[in-house]
Amino acid sequence: MLKIAVYGKGGIGKSTTVSNVAAALADKGLRVMQIGCDPKADSTILLRGDQGEMKTILDLVRENEDQNSITLDDMVRIGYKDIVCAEAGGPTPGLGCAGRGIIAALTKLAEKGAYDKYKPDVVLYDVLGDVVCGGFSMPMRPGYADYVMVVTSGENMSIYAAANISMAVEQFKNRGYAKFAGLILNRRKVKDEDEKVAEFAKEINSKVVGSINRSDLIQSAEELNKTVVEAFPDSSLSDEYRKLADQIMASCEALVC
Ligand code: ATP
Ligand code: MG
Repeated sequence: MLKIAVYGKGGIGKSTTVSNVAAALADKGLRVMQIGCDPKADSTILLRGDQGEMKTILDLVRENEDQNSITLDDMVRIGYKDIVCAEAGGPTPGLGCAGRGIIAALTKLAEKGAYDKYKPDVVLYDVLGDVVCGGFSMPMRPGYADYVMVVTSGENMSIYAAANISMAVEQFKNRGYAKFAGLILNRRKVKDEDEKVAEFAKEINSKVVGSINRSDLIQSAEELNKTVVEAFPDSSLSDEYRKLADQIMASCEALVC
């Protein structure tokens, strides 16, 4: 089982990228689980098509006085090509800590046997977090993700966030936390973007694992509640996502001890 946490600046394209990679991996016949670790709880929308809203794990924890009555089926939805979708959710705005919520949700998912039941080949944690404090480091703790990747563009703010995340992984590494497995370039058409991000990767002793071009096809697919890989499988953008999926797998497998 390869467990990968994908971080990156807010709005940089984590959920879109992770969902398309999940779809590409599922198309290849792999069993995939995607877990949104973000109070917005919108990580898996593109994989769930027309199934509508799903309850977040924290909503279930809040609403059920008897925690034993919560089942695994309540916590997950089965999406495109049997991808297991879960959303951690978050606290009521203004009350409570989002990071702590992620801890509670991931613990509950494991406790209820999600990994044993679905036996995923790949688990993708889609994690909001420019800064990796407290609960946002949960997905990279032992027992959860083994690898961390960061989505970035060539924009300074997203590189700044990526630098912070890579530093956090470096700080935690002696505690058996996840390893840094590279950057994913989601292009924003910034000047000299590829060179800029490649240079940054070198500075942090890492590499650019793969890249995706900016494209309006993503919005067209979004309007259909689908990933590009599902909605437009013959597009060159789908080829890019399939290639990226292979590159992500190869990059993590190369780090397996
Ligand atoms: P958040 O931190 O809020 O969870 P995110 O990092 O998950 O955000 P997304 O929701 O995936 O970001 O993407 C933000 C917006 O950028 C979406 O509207 C999406 O359609 C768009 N987007 C992402 N990648 C691309 C791309 N390569 N080309 C064009 N639009 C893109
Ligand atoms: Mg997101």
